[in-house]
Amino acid sequence: MEDFYGLNEKGPDGKPTAEATDRMKTYQAMLGIKANNCTCGGRVFPSAPCDVFRPPDPARKAAIEGHWSEPETMGKFYTDFITENPSAIADFRAANPKEFPPSGGPRFNKTNHLTPKSAGGCPDNPGNLQPHDTLCAACKLIDDQFGEWQNNNPGWRGKWNTAFRESRIKRWRVAGFTPSWW
Ligand SMILES: [Zn+2]
Repeated sequence: MEDFYGLNEKGPDGKPTAEATDRMKTYQAMLGIKANNCTCGGRVFPSAPCDVFRPPDPARKAAIEGHWSEPETMGKFYTDFITENPSAIADFRAANPKEFPPSGGPRFNKTNHLTPKSAGGCPDNPGNLQPHDTLCAACKLIDDQFGEWQNNNPGWRGKWNTAFRESRIKRWRVAGFTPSWW
C-alpha cells in the first residue's frame, strides 16, 4: 500500500522525497482522523488478506470494473451486506443525521474497494468492500484523499487542505498520529 500511494518514495540520496514525506504526514493525519473523528462502523483502510497491492494491470482492472458495473453484482453485495448487518443503515442514519442517507436498495449508490481495482484488489471478498453510502464524513474525507493519490492529481494538497479545513477537525488531534501497530 505504501508503495502504491507513494508514501515510501526515496530520492537518489536514499532519503524519502519531499513528496513522500508530505504524503506520509497526510496519511498519519488520515489514521488519526479515523481513530478520533469517525462516527460510523465503516472501513477505509485495506486489511488482510485483501491488502495485497499488485502492479497496475489494465486488463484486470477493466475486468473488475466490468464485473462491478453489472446490476447483479451490485445487487448481490447490497443484499449480502444488509443480511449480515441488518441495522447498519438505521445505525448510520442515527449517528450521521447530516449525511446523505444510504440507499434503501436494491444497490448502494457506490461501493468502495479498499485495495483499489487499479491495484488488483480482491473483486468480491467482503473484506475488501465497503458501501460508500455508510461512510461518515470523516471516512469520506479519508477515502477521497486515497482517490486523489490514486488519480495522481498533482493538486491533491490544495484539495486536502480545503477539505480538512471544512471538516473542522482539529489538526493537533490528528497530526503525527501513530497507531498501535505502527
Ligand atoms: Zn467513519
